[in-house]
Amino acid sequence: MNVLDSELALADLLQAGYEPVDDSQHADVILFNTCSVRQHAEDKIYSALGRLKHIKRQRPGTIIGVLGCMAQRERQTILHRAPHVDLVVGPGQLARLPELIRRVEAGEGPIVELSLDRRADAHGTVRASFLQHDPPRMAAVRPIRQQAMVRIMFGCDKFCTYCIVPAVRGPEQSRPAEKIVAEVRRLAEDGCLEVTLLGQTVNSYRDTSGERPVALADLLAELNEIEGLRRLKFVTSHPRHITTDLICAVRDLPKVSPYLHVPAQSGSDRILKRMRRGYTAGRYREMLSEIRVAIPEAAVTSDFIVGFPGETEEDYRQTVELLSESRFKNSFIFKYSPRPKTKAVELYEDDVPDKIKRQRNNELLAIQNAISLEDAQAWVGRQAEILVEGPSKAARKKRGDDETIQLVGRTVCDRIVVFDGRQELTGTILPVTIEKVDAFTLFGRADPSRASRQAESR
Ligand code: SF4
Repeated sequence: MNVLDSELALADLLQAGYEPVDDSQHADVILFNTCSVRQHAEDKIYSALGRLKHIKRQRPGTIIGVLGCMAQRERQTILHRAPHVDLVVGPGQLARLPELIRRVEAGEGPIVELSLDRRADAHGTVRASFLQHDPPRMAAVRPIRQQAMVRIMFGCDKFCTYCIVPAVRGPEQSRPAEKIVAEVRRLAEDGCLEVTLLGQTVNSYRDTSGERPVALADLLAELNEIEGLRRLKFVTSHPRHITTDLICAVRDLPKVSPYLHVPAQSGSDRILKRMRRGYTAGRYREMLSEIRVAIPEAAVTSDFIVGFPGETEEDYRQTVELLSESRFKNSFIFKYSPRPKTKAVELYEDDVPDKIKRQRNNELLAIQNAISLEDAQAWVGRQAEILVEGPSKAARKKRGDDETIQLVGRTVCDRIVVFDGRQELTGTILPVTIEKVDAFTLFGRADPSRASRQAESR
């Protein structure tokens, strides 16, 4: 979500006449788009702001801004801790960014522009204060023209007790389906092959603005008809909203990737209840089994939090059990990080020692990595169709002028594939034969004649 917000903010600024520079030393405006999900992310921003003090001393006209979730959560505190900041803009106010920068340039700073606190006003008024931001898309600001993210919802109404997102990103709002279809159609006309639909709980999407309500499965069916578009993905799904209709849409619509990210968070009913996730481990298993029966080739990924307040060894063992039997393609595993203003902080003591959190995190990761490796090994000798995203990190570091470099791409199931080829292959969809794997990456070889035809047709 933040990557998309940054892309849209950059596009707005380019249209307003700003140009990007390579080095903050030469910038007139320096903006941080921030995350509040973990304390560590916020600490890093305060350190980065501290390092900019000298720029502000040398060039007092430089505008420094903090955007996004941390701005909405920390509010005036940012100006107290970093008085050289000129602009604090919440995620619901990003649509106004160019105007706000102009006002600081005109001497009005510092400016703090935030949406209303969720608890401070009526639901409708708070919702209206989180402005929707869907400016025209600009291929030049995306890493590659052929891939794009499209937001279909704003905010979240779930209020999981550990999570700050509903407070900082505001009430759930679905964008009208008509607007989304028009945006994806324009992207496809402009050469985009793969679109990832985004929402905090993307599968609770429901547009009620037209004659008939439109759910995610209906939206996917409409988008599937768009000419030129080859792949459709969506993240992040909430287990409670995985419906049979949605599973059938993923199974039956040829452009929809058989890839679902459905965070489980814990395998213990007691902890799931404390987290207010709204399902039990048994219900999660049933949902997963429905996916596996309908779409055996589906890649399912998950998130887990270890060390949530009150998590006993027995609770944790139940999480190990769920993760071990679920055969996720991969899982993102986090140590619980208490966030001020969340229910978990109000209700529970952060009572699992950090050492235990770390042990549980490492053990769970090791189990998941072994599963991911076995899952990847099944690919050896098979052909994967990948969308080439460009030079790999290693190739970018090397920066030689070899014609053949290491490239990286992604399968429909979001597996990362590395192979050697010409840079011109970037943005093409190509079959690659997998020769070896590790837990996170498939290493392959592109058919040389096909690859060279594709590169030349670019
Ligand atoms: S569903 Fe829960 S974890 Fe996900 S964004 Fe909403 S409150 Fe946070």
